Amino acid sequence: MRVAVVGGGWAGLAAAVAAAEGGALVSLFEAAHALGGRARRLLLQRPDGLACPLDNGQHILIGAYRDTLTLMQRLGVAPLDVLQVQPLSLRFADGRGLQVPPWAARWPAPLDGLAAMATARGWGWGDRLGLLRAALRWRAVGFACADDATVAEVCRGVPPRAMEELIEPLCISALNLPAAQASGAVFLRVLRDALFGQPTAGMAPAALLLPRTDLSALLPDAAAQWLQAQGHSVHTGARVEAVQRDGIHEGAGWRLTLADGTQAVFESVVWATGAPAAARALAPVAPDWARTAAAIEHTAITTVYAWAPAARLAAPMLALRDGPAQFAFDRGALSPREPGLQGVLALVISHSSGEREDLQAAALAQAQAQLGVQLLPLQTVTEKRATFACRPGLQRAPAAVAPGLWAAGDHVDGPYPATLEGAVRSGLQAARRALDEAIR
Ligand SMILES: Cc1cc2nc3c(=O)[nH]c(=O)nc-3n(C[C@H](O)[C@H](O)[C@H](O)COP(=O)(O)OP(=O)(O)OC[C@H]3O[C@@H](n4cnc5c(N)ncnc54)[C@H](O)[C@@H]3O)c2cc1C
Repeated sequence: MRVAVVGGGWAGLAAAVAAAEGGALVSLFEAAHALGGRARRLLLQRPDGLACPLDNGQHILIGAYRDTLTLMQRLGVAPLDVLQVQPLSLRFADGRGLQVPPWAARWPAPLDGLAAMATARGWGWGDRLGLLRAALRWRAVGFACADDATVAEVCRGVPPRAMEELIEPLCISALNLPAAQASGAVFLRVLRDALFGQPTAGMAPAALLLPRTDLSALLPDAAAQWLQAQGHSVHTGARVEAVQRDGIHEGAGWRLTLADGTQAVFESVVWATGAPAAARALAPVAPDWARTAAAIEHTAITTVYAWAPAARLAAPMLALRDGPAQFAFDRGALSPREPGLQGVLALVISHSSGEREDLQAAALAQAQAQLGVQLLPLQTVTEKRATFACRPGLQRAPAAVAPGLWAAGDHVDGPYPATLEGAVRSGLQAARRALDEAIR
């Protein structure tokens, strides 16, 4: 069976590998010149001329990313070689905040979390007990809640300090929205998987996994090499302009038209672009599906990459307060053998809004005040459609578009918010369903 995958982000790559493993002959088309989509390498240069292999946006994974970690392994990437594993930590520069103490790092969940709560610096017993009561309440109801509840609503009774130093940073980093606007059901599901999921590749589900390489080296490079080595084709700089039903050829399928005018027919197509591009391209063949995809709202993330020769943080990742940036990452500490990354920090502004220059200036001032470093800006990248807005009751696009036409991407209906794991799961699901359909 000939399968086309349109879009070479993490969803499309996962779909292509799974379809190939299932016996299909795969052609992957990616409009950009590089694979990886919203999670890819960005090569910058420092003022002193050294090259910095960074990303289009700082990312973080967690141990609960079961399908992503398993796919990396299948492609020959050992997660422990490319990810720094650390117990859940939301430590601020002043040492406050929640952190699993080193002596509890190997305790099974949720005991490690309880140890973190018991030892959180700056927390009173009221804060610890209030959070524990909420956690027990969530557990008693199986980490489920009404579809229309916000994170703030499911966290009623959680003390303000625990909201400020745990729930809000977790919520904005996982769902890219503040607790008052984010979906309580999705938040609780991620929390459940992180607290009670099974370890993957030897990693606790709640562990934070910080990339030690650029994002292309985590998965996209290996996926492309694997596909090509198995005789499948990967076309970059190949935008698919249109998809039409093809009834002329035997074993009718879908005709794709590329921007350069070339056409090809496939029995099955997995459409794995972001929601807006998918809505535009699929409207002529699946108007209802396209309407749902087009209605999905997005939120931005800005990453400020900045540098100072001796900049070094007390930990590879620190939480920030009182400003646009919520987290700072020490890219030099994460990649000690990369000379161009020494002294490079990434300041992450989730749910960002406003002018790039203003955000950059405010984040640099924040770093100076809270981290004690005066940084030179390298590059500030705003991804306007970084994630879909994971609000309560959001209607996501289904995987089935039409017979032989499947959708993949983080916006496709699934358990996770807009994350690498959500993208990978949707890609695997689309490939599986395309192959099943062909067998029937
Ligand atoms: C700044 C930033 C920070 C993030 N932080 C995190 C994080 O810390 N942890 C986490 O898990 N997730 C994070 N995410 C979310 C994560 O990156 C995305 O959920 C994921 O990459 C989406 O993958 P995808 O394959 O669904 O879509 P995309 O990556 O958008 O891939 C779609 C691809 O389709 C291509 N395309 C579009 N139109 C066409 C066409 N007509 N023909 C051919 N190709 C086409 C695009 O060029 C693109 O490569 C972050 C995202 C951003 C932007």
